[in-house]
Amino acid sequence: MKDPNHLIKVEKAIAEKYGDETIQDPKASWDDAKEKEYLEQIKKVSRSQKPKEKIEVDGVLMPKKLFIKESKRTCPQCKVYSFEMRDDLYMAKFKCCFKCYIQFVEGREEKWLKNQTS
Ligand SMILES: [Zn+2]
Repeated sequence: MKDPNHLIKVEKAIAEKYGDETIQDPKASWDDAKEKEYLEQIKKVSRSQKPKEKIEVDGVLMPKKLFIKESKRTCPQCKVYSFEMRDDLYMAKFKCCFKCYIQFVEGREEKWLKNQTS
């Protein structure tokens, strides 16, 4: 069963925020200024609830939206996004970044490429 005092509590909370006239006749006092303030508050809340997604690039956090179109530059091996031109070369040839090439591929290029294509 609902709390019979619930509506009273809500009205009291609204009254404290916007003043008594809001409850007496909400439409009469709901002018453009209040609507604008209300919308601003919604914006603020939605902004604070959505933390900006960031991607770490060489230890520096960058906004994710900058990279969405270039997601192909993320190494499939270590999941690190790469700015480096030389990584393009290794990405195209070995499907990984330069660091992963050093770690996993160097000295066994043929075996690596076999595993990539099979
Ligand atoms: Zn990598």
